Amino acid sequence: TIAMLAQDAQGNLSGSCTTSGMGFKMRGRLGDSPLIGSGLFVDNAVGAAAATGQGEDVIRIAGSHTVVELMRQGLSPTAACKAAVERIARIKGDKAREIQVCFIAINNQGQHGAFALQKGFSYALCTSENQQQLVQSGYLL
Ligand code: ASP
Repeated sequence: TIAMLAQDAQGNLSGSCTTSGMGFKMRGRLGDSPLIGSGLFVDNAVGAAAATGQGEDVIRIAGSHTVVELMRQGLSPTAACKAAVERIARIKGDKAREIQVCFIAINNQGQHGAFALQKGFSYALCTSENQQQLVQSGYLL
């Protein structure tokens, strides 16, 4: 999955995502990426979030919408992503070690963050000061 979240000079938020889905997927499988609220959610009044990883588990908690709602309640982008990952880990139990799920988020103040279930997720950050920078996300397991 490739997901992009953006904020323009007026503070407006936007997002997009694209995916080839999972390898060896069942015919007709729909992942999280085409489902607004799961793979991507943008609320200009609060923030935006997007997901990558095991789509079935992101869909289960309407992951990106969950991240945005947690930011609405006052959590930082990183804390909101972490709380969504923790929710998935709780649901998966022992099987959480078998999957990867990652969220990225930005709030309407331009603060950004990410969190992953497993080690190894990073995201590219582009600002007016920084052409491009790789940011390592925290992880749970
Ligand atoms: N989230 C995608 C899906 O489940 C897979 C991916 O992130 O590559 O379809």
